[in-house]
Amino acid sequence: MTLLSIRDLTVHHGQLRAVDGLSLDVDEGEVLAIIGANGAGKSTLLRALAGLNPPTSGTVHLRGRDITRLPAHQRVPAGIALVPEGRRLFPSLTVEENLLVGAYRKRTGPWTVAAVHELFPWMAERRDQNAAQLSGGEQQAVAIGRALLSNPELLLVDELSLGLAPVVVRRIYETLPRIVGAGTTALIVEQDVTQAMRVADRVHCLLEGRSVLRGRPGDLTAEQVEHAYFGIA
Ligand code: ATP
Repeated sequence: MTLLSIRDLTVHHGQLRAVDGLSLDVDEGEVLAIIGANGAGKSTLLRALAGLNPPTSGTVHLRGRDITRLPAHQRVPAGIALVPEGRRLFPSLTVEENLLVGAYRKRTGPWTVAAVHELFPWMAERRDQNAAQLSGGEQQAVAIGRALLSNPELLLVDELSLGLAPVVVRRIYETLPRIVGAGTTALIVEQDVTQAMRVADRVHCLLEGRSVLRGRPGDLTAEQVEHAYFGIA
């Protein structure tokens, strides 16, 4: 069953077509990873889905509902939550307060503060600490928890691994099966191809705003991925 359907989506930054006629479907219950080099348009795509970069043309449907022009603040109640690049926590608020920001416009669903604490057990003990005192990996976990608390159908995660040690990244990605198991679909942007191939059910490789390769990790050869990533014909 298709959860999100993107057709011929184009998003400009000024004259630049950062996303260029992109079509893709996200199926319910899958982890779909968008890979691609710096500047391929991955963040712009996620930001367009979150309503932050309005598209020039094309359509986006969530469960058949046209959300192409839906303002950003209406996307959370519609079922889309973004974990932005760089986490964007409130540094002077506590861990718990940062989580509760996500619950502000929440839908009903499995995600409560207690459920997020089950996912990341250390968070319960450190609930009263300021977010500024957390490590990068811990901040990333709080950013994910905050997004989950809105009970999204579709969780968008932008560059989770940015600036984090590989072991920390792996530990966070290990929670994905439980997130998906609770009924949340995940669309992730990941520059680390090895990580993406490890955690995703399917990957799409973007090059200059276009999807140049798609498939299940097991069906794609390293050579295919490398060529798509670097744009080698
Ligand atoms: P990265 O991993 O560096 O974030 P990306 O694949 O996410 O890369 P985008 O950030 O979506 O790529 O950028 C796509 C293109 O759009 C790049 O050429 C980038 O320079 C340009 N771009 C991104 N944001 C803006 C902006 N706010 N204003 C102008 N150009 C932008």
